[in-house]
Amino acid sequence: MTNREFADYLFPDCKEVAYYEEKYPNRNLKEGAMVTRFAPSPTGFVHMGSLFAAFISNQYAKQTGGVFYLRIEDTDQKRMVENGITGIINDLSAFDFDIKEDPIQGGKYGPYIQSERKEIYQAYVKKLIQEGKAYPCFCTEQELQDLRKMQEKNKERIGYYGAYAKYRNVDLEEAKKLIEQKVPYVIRLKSNGNFQNTIVLNDCIKGKVEFPENDMDIVLLKQDGLPTYHLAHVIDDHLMHTTHVIRGDEWVSSYPIHYDLFHTFGFPMPKYAHIAPLTKKENETVRKLSKRYDPECSITYYEKTGIPKEAVKLYLATLMNSNFEEWYSQNPDKTIDDFTFTFEKMAIGGSLFDLQKLESISKIYFSSLKAEEVYEKSLPYMKEYYPDFYHILKQNKEYSIQVFDIERGGERPRKDLSSYSDILKYHGYMFDEFFFQEPYKNVEEHYDTAILKEYLSVYKEESEEEWFQHLKECAEKCGYATNRKDYKLHPEEYKGNLNLFCEIIRVAITGMKDSPNLYYLLKLLGKERIEKRFQSFIERN
Ligand code: GLU
Repeated sequence: MTNREFADYLFPDCKEVAYYEEKYPNRNLKEGAMVTRFAPSPTGFVHMGSLFAAFISNQYAKQTGGVFYLRIEDTDQKRMVENGITGIINDLSAFDFDIKEDPIQGGKYGPYIQSERKEIYQAYVKKLIQEGKAYPCFCTEQELQDLRKMQEKNKERIGYYGAYAKYRNVDLEEAKKLIEQKVPYVIRLKSNGNFQNTIVLNDCIKGKVEFPENDMDIVLLKQDGLPTYHLAHVIDDHLMHTTHVIRGDEWVSSYPIHYDLFHTFGFPMPKYAHIAPLTKKENETVRKLSKRYDPECSITYYEKTGIPKEAVKLYLATLMNSNFEEWYSQNPDKTIDDFTFTFEKMAIGGSLFDLQKLESISKIYFSSLKAEEVYEKSLPYMKEYYPDFYHILKQNKEYSIQVFDIERGGERPRKDLSSYSDILKYHGYMFDEFFFQEPYKNVEEHYDTAILKEYLSVYKEESEEEWFQHLKECAEKCGYATNRKDYKLHPEEYKGNLNLFCEIIRVAITGMKDSPNLYYLLKLLGKERIEKRFQSFIERN
């Protein structure tokens, strides 16, 4: 039986590979345009490490006028999750990635779900069988385990290669008989590699990495007829014309296999960029960021806490290129897309994922927004997580914007908000319905509330300067020092200093010791509401 006959026997209905080569022609893109992809398994959710990979791939494609597409790698049926694909697409679209092709919108190079590409992989495997470059292997699990044990015992390289590749030269008649008897089998590559030879990967991030050539007869098609990651990667990235395979570090050791496959098929190779994992510092040790242990690894964490996706993206940009942060601080009015990312500025070792740092970037982001933007952007979050507060905001649009506008803009804008939920913490008290729920739950001290009556009698709307003058006069009248030196020299002569005087007013109207500029808060509340709050504070005291 010839190779050709055997190939026809195994795959009678396959098309010629020429059909696919023609069906998926070169992409007509300008010189230097990068075609990148995000290729997750449909496990239902995107975690921070994969979001980072997607962010990088999207950014490079966008910046070079190329294409970023999504391909679902579902050939491991054990890892499938219901709604896994829509979950991924939803997560990605929440981050506004510019996905040009995916399983839902389609595209010229589809299908974009690997399990729907079965016949394509089989066509290419058929070609290898015809050329004597692939063969069926009938080894059982047990046989493979025994081989491994024997190799371990003899201190030999573990694997299915060379003389250990039992079915490498299987008689094709014999193989056909076994298949007819329904003996399960896989299709393996008949590797031509020599382990003594060295190959070099010129990784876009890691630089030159040397490996011994692959000589393993790796599995191409599994017993269920679906491809392994190795085969699917090579066929898909070839037919979809990926120029840069940007993927996790854990794949770098498979490079020799991919090199072998690309050469066996006679395909040009894409460029590779292997991204180091995101890490986390815990006590004194650094470990991988883990979806099991670190809530911040999951995208839903940001949705729930209300850290804006824009801030997460800014943080990913700082992780992607070490010079981004400085550039952004000098160009706060620009967007991520105005920056030119380079592989040279990407970390070779693991990048530390630091939630506090992300939050501080988020504060910068919030401080760059206009009050109206804070208002509009916070609404969907509030609607989902704090519907009562959402109604308050909806009913008081103008007022809310005025509240958010306090100490916004200017040279040194206030940087307290790092999430939409912080709006409740730092601005909630300005809304009566919210404030009066538990106005002073965090106040432990008992204050000299007598001053409040006195202050209310002098309070009126006026310029900030006049207001401050009158505040001081009232403080003096109530026995508080307005001169720092005097107070330092004779503290016993006073009930306290001006700071304390202001603190009482502040706590009475906000329930907190720290708040933005008192003048504006009082002005926005207006005398009637101030009085109500003073009254309530006096009663509580
Ligand atoms: N499906 C692989 C993974 O989830 C993709 C790796 C790649 O980008 O090629 O790790």
